[in-house]
Amino acid sequence: MKRDYYEILSVARDASIPDIKSAYRREALKHHPDRNPGDKDSEKRFKEAAEAYEVLSDPEKRKIYDRYGHQGLTGARAPQGYSSVEDILSAFGDVFGGGSLFGEFFGFSGGSGGGPRRGSSLRCEVRLSFAEMAKGATKTLSLRRPETCETCHGTGARPGTSSRTCSYCHGRGVIQQRQGFFALQTACPRCEGEGTVLDTPCADCGGAGRVPRSRDIEVKIPAGIEDGMQIRLSGEGEAGERGATPGDLYCEVRVGRHPLFSRDGNDLLCEVPITFAQASLGAEIDIPGIDGRERLSVPRGTQSGSVLRLLGKGLPDVRGRTTGDLLARVVVETPKRLSKRQEELLREFAETEESSVSPGRKGFFEKLKELFGTND
Ligand SMILES: [Zn+2]
Ligand SMILES: [Zn+2]
Repeated sequence: MKRDYYEILSVARDASIPDIKSAYRREALKHHPDRNPGDKDSEKRFKEAAEAYEVLSDPEKRKIYDRYGHQGLTGARAPQGYSSVEDILSAFGDVFGGGSLFGEFFGFSGGSGGGPRRGSSLRCEVRLSFAEMAKGATKTLSLRRPETCETCHGTGARPGTSSRTCSYCHGRGVIQQRQGFFALQTACPRCEGEGTVLDTPCADCGGAGRVPRSRDIEVKIPAGIEDGMQIRLSGEGEAGERGATPGDLYCEVRVGRHPLFSRDGNDLLCEVPITFAQASLGAEIDIPGIDGRERLSVPRGTQSGSVLRLLGKGLPDVRGRTTGDLLARVVVETPKRLSKRQEELLREFAETEESSVSPGRKGFFEKLKELFGTND
């Protein structure tokens, strides 16, 4: 099932070593994980190309492969079968320029050599009560983050002075070297890829262009947000180097519990105790809601455990379209104490039902005699 190595690299069977090298470079770049993030097929092809290159660039292994195919390459001669991209880069980095990473060499992952670096993103947590969640809230976060130095405006140069163009790379930040067949490009060692050098660094930031600052940041939290959701505050992370784009701030939202309510999506759930009489005869009762009291109609003959729905009285959708419902689960409570009058009425009621009930406390022994007296 293994694909032919020549086919993988799209080269002729008599291709020269430089041809194979450049074919591998082309394939590896096409399928490089930086260019195809999360693409499993590309990753497979990237590894496949590395294996093909490993064999075809080694005259001895290539000879065996030409004669016996994949079966010939076993034991000590078996290709490594790279499991990670890092393995491949450390094994064949020389193809791409003095062991540097692909990203640095080709400048598509924003590594050094690509100018000032973007600021890192920051993470924080923001806690809300259930009621705040239901209404939406504005919270103030206090955090410390690197910000652009106000003295030098992020340049890193002492005010009145300026950085000068790096004479080694002539401001390009990269240098080119010819190594046999290839022109290789690496970050300039003198200016570390910046293209400029500072003779007199800013005293406040030491030339970094950034200084740590404590900040209070307001976060608007939309109503209905769920526990664990993240809010992204664009550009509120660390400042970038020398005016580069700042990072973002990610706030993870933590919502507290409510003594009465739980939630199911945008629906609010609560339990409401009702009496036997309310359940039997029906009732209008007040129950707690997010906006204060709500009127709940308990229909005649409601069973314990029934769920009654108040439309639109739940939580707003965090994306702002719909509103959930309030679901009240009614539980019929059996009275633990009855007044004399209540007991009389209930016993009368039980008689009409012709159901057996336990005898009243008063006269209990008399009733016992009535029942069992004949046996005396
Ligand atoms: Zn400064
Ligand atoms: Zn330079």
